[in-house]
Amino acid sequence: MAITPLMPVYPRCGVRPVRGEGCYLYGEDGTQYLDMAAGIAVNALGHAHPKLVEAIARQAATLMHVSNLYGSPQGERLAQRLVDLTFADTVFFTNSGVEAVECAIKTARRFHHAEGNPQRNTLICFNQAFHGRTLGAISATNQAKMRDGFEPLLPGFVYAPFNDLDAALALVDDRTAGFLVEPIQGEGGVSVGTDAFLQGLRAACDAHGLMLVFDEVQCGYGRTGTMFYHEQVGIVPDIMAVAKGIGGGFPLGACLATEQAARGMVVGTHGSTYGGNPLAMAAGEAVLDVMGEPGFLAHVGAMGERLRASLEQMIPNHDHLFQEVRGKGLMLGLKLKPPVEARAFVGFLRDEYRLLTVSAGENVVRILPPLVIDEHHIAECVETLSAAARVYVTPSDD
Ligand code: PLP
Repeated sequence: MAITPLMPVYPRCGVRPVRGEGCYLYGEDGTQYLDMAAGIAVNALGHAHPKLVEAIARQAATLMHVSNLYGSPQGERLAQRLVDLTFADTVFFTNSGVEAVECAIKTARRFHHAEGNPQRNTLICFNQAFHGRTLGAISATNQAKMRDGFEPLLPGFVYAPFNDLDAALALVDDRTAGFLVEPIQGEGGVSVGTDAFLQGLRAACDAHGLMLVFDEVQCGYGRTGTMFYHEQVGIVPDIMAVAKGIGGGFPLGACLATEQAARGMVVGTHGSTYGGNPLAMAAGEAVLDVMGEPGFLAHVGAMGERLRASLEQMIPNHDHLFQEVRGKGLMLGLKLKPPVEARAFVGFLRDEYRLLTVSAGENVVRILPPLVIDEHHIAECVETLSAAARVYVTPSDD
């Protein structure tokens, strides 16, 4: 048989991590890597954070899983903390980002159903968006590479260019349920939604009774220096999908909503066997405990500034390779100049310099370190990038 036991859907590289510590990963052969990818914005506390490890170990030995047919003191505690921290009044816990997005889509549709407007079932989504890999989520993105061969997709999604408020508003009609948007597009190329764009979507939702659904799976949970990115824009969504950093590496996501937005989500409308089980809740509480320590978010902001400034300082020395730095906080993207390709350069950094980054759309190298990174990791990262850039042979030089 030619097919591998692991379904071959990923372009897996030669790095084979078996251990992690702080901002470093170690391969099977002991090779050390500086991890500026953090599981694609997941390992917010770095690898093997003692508080997260201890909380998971303790809970695993106490009670790992019970069904959602029983009361959940663990879930109530974490949900209450998220409600206290955010715009939301209620939380549904999931095991992944895409399930949080699915719940958000269902919540938005169900709101209009409960309002007596079931024809309002269409979400306005955005080009280059990424919301995950379920049929619902690939229907919400119009990228052929994710959709091809999986048709028929779900109806109820239309698309506008990102950051084009007029184009988005022009799509609003009597079938519109609301907008589904990443305030900062991650996979799409670390493109930051402008304040005017995001605030304009909020205003349109208020004017027309629509749902503003934010996907903060990648940009949320401390990554940009505030707990959620929308705090920096001065608006709140009605519904928000969260995941990645929320579990610090434990599979956990959440769909947050206001009481009004969640009015259709009554008993029997949604569910998940594992979602919000005691083990996941223990991980979520430990992450929040650490992020709530004084200075944690300020540290993310300061490290983000430092990393951005160091990258910007480096660019002129290699301006045949690098175009600009984009993003917020510790969600940064280094845009490369053609013919240099982000995927190839990421491979070069990894294989020749043991520096882990992630490629994204628009020829961008994503830098998404653990949020506990410090100055010396930043110096190591930028020195390594610089050394690699000095010797990188672009395709046209061949
Ligand atoms: N939404 C965004 C913005 C993401 O970046 C991702 C994953 O990268 C997802 C949703 C899907 O999350 P998951 O892979 O945990 O299902």
